[in-house]
Amino acid sequence: MEKVEVVVVGGGPAGLAAACVLAEAGAEVLVVERGDYSGSKNVTGGRLYLEPVRAVLPDLWEDAPFERLVVKERLTMMAPGSSLTIEFDSGRFRGRPPHSATVLRATFDQWLAEKAGEKGAVVVPGYKVDDLLMEGGRVTGIRSADAEVQADVVVAADGVLSFVAEKAGLRPRHDPQHLALGVKEVIELSEEKIQDRFGLGPGEGAAQLFFGSITAGMFGGGFLYTNRRSLSLGLVIGTHALMEHRPPVPPHDLMEAFRARPEVAALIAGGQPVEYSAHSIPEGGPAAMPRLVTDGMVVVGDAAGLALNQAVTVRGMDMALVSGVLAARAILAARAANDFSAAGLASYEETLKASSVYQDLATFQHVPEVLSNPRLFEEYPQVACELFEQIMWTGAEPKEKMSRTALRTVGKLMRPRYLGDLWKMRKI
Ligand SMILES: Cc1cc2nc3c(=O)[nH]c(=O)nc-3n(C[C@H](O)[C@H](O)[C@H](O)COP(=O)(O)OP(=O)(O)OC[C@H]3O[C@@H](n4cnc5c(N)ncnc54)[C@H](O)[C@@H]3O)c2cc1C
Repeated sequence: MEKVEVVVVGGGPAGLAAACVLAEAGAEVLVVERGDYSGSKNVTGGRLYLEPVRAVLPDLWEDAPFERLVVKERLTMMAPGSSLTIEFDSGRFRGRPPHSATVLRATFDQWLAEKAGEKGAVVVPGYKVDDLLMEGGRVTGIRSADAEVQADVVVAADGVLSFVAEKAGLRPRHDPQHLALGVKEVIELSEEKIQDRFGLGPGEGAAQLFFGSITAGMFGGGFLYTNRRSLSLGLVIGTHALMEHRPPVPPHDLMEAFRARPEVAALIAGGQPVEYSAHSIPEGGPAAMPRLVTDGMVVVGDAAGLALNQAVTVRGMDMALVSGVLAARAILAARAANDFSAAGLASYEETLKASSVYQDLATFQHVPEVLSNPRLFEEYPQVACELFEQIMWTGAEPKEKMSRTALRTVGKLMRPRYLGDLWKMRKI
């Protein structure tokens, strides 16, 4: 039977970052990816926060296939017939090295797979792992339909529903409370139109997040990211909320309605939809994370539950990359000590928990619970939009003082249930 030092299951950002670090240090690494190529089956909104990643992997990004560097932030609150947008532009976000970039996974993951290959990892696409090899509770390798490969360590980097972490007994089956469903479209549009519509220069990008009535009272929101010659448009909604919603509302219908909103329709007008995808996102925070290490195995990225929907940012790729690097470092330490037991690999868990990505996850762990409140998506955006509508409207009748309009509109929120919502906000 074939034997290598490390098998990485899954050629996404987490697995490939681990492979880069391991191969660079001279370890023998095999990455197996079930897709036709890395990125072929992967879905993301598309914004990669680079600062956390550069802290552990500083030198890789010079020739990365970033679509645009994000310099403009927009946050849009949607009520049924109106919306309120905040636009934020800061010199700091325009600085170098870049703060964040948009990516398309088909190109980004392939590029990262090439980097891993250049460093000496063997990346095999079209290879689906069907089972683990185990001996006395220890993970000793992988099995596919027609081959078995033994390894000192298996890296579970197979994404949110990680079948291999489940097989190794590191986590139970997923609870829908801890998952969100993301649906996404890529819409082709010319470079010039993108730059004109979002007020951007060449290479500059914008990120627009939407929340409010578009999710029919459910925790979640919309995103619109600018790529070089396309837009990534989508919705992320709590899976449990979707299952419980009465009457049932298909995500596709919400997406149709979102796309048809004038605030969105004007931005995507004339664009050609070229890709439609859907995927789960782990959103359970630290409480829903699996055990990260066992004898002969470490778990990274989405498989480890490392994603964060903070309402104003959606993250996962940076966490995947960071966890891959930290896992690789722990494997190298275990290799030096020739101890691939859970104890030998334990430094992965320690360094991950000390990292900013884990700490951010812990800081914002109550976001899903606090934001699972229909009032936040229905009543509050409605009140904010009403306030602006009344202030901006000039009719035939005389206007009242702005302070009076503000007090009357916002005053509606001075009731116990709204003040209770405000109190709960302290948790996030
Ligand atoms: C709609 C949506 C929007 C998002 N927006 C953002 C965003 O803007 N910014 C951000 O940072 N994050 C975002 N995320 C989260 C981000 O995409 C993930 O956190 C990230 O992709 C996780 O990387 P990963 O390498 O852990 O897993 P994945 O990218 O899922 O990679 C896992 C890989 O394993 C392979 N695989 C699975 N099973 C097997 C098997 N049995 N054998 C072999 N290979 C296997 C898969 O084909 C895949 O290539 C979003 C996610 C979604 C769904």
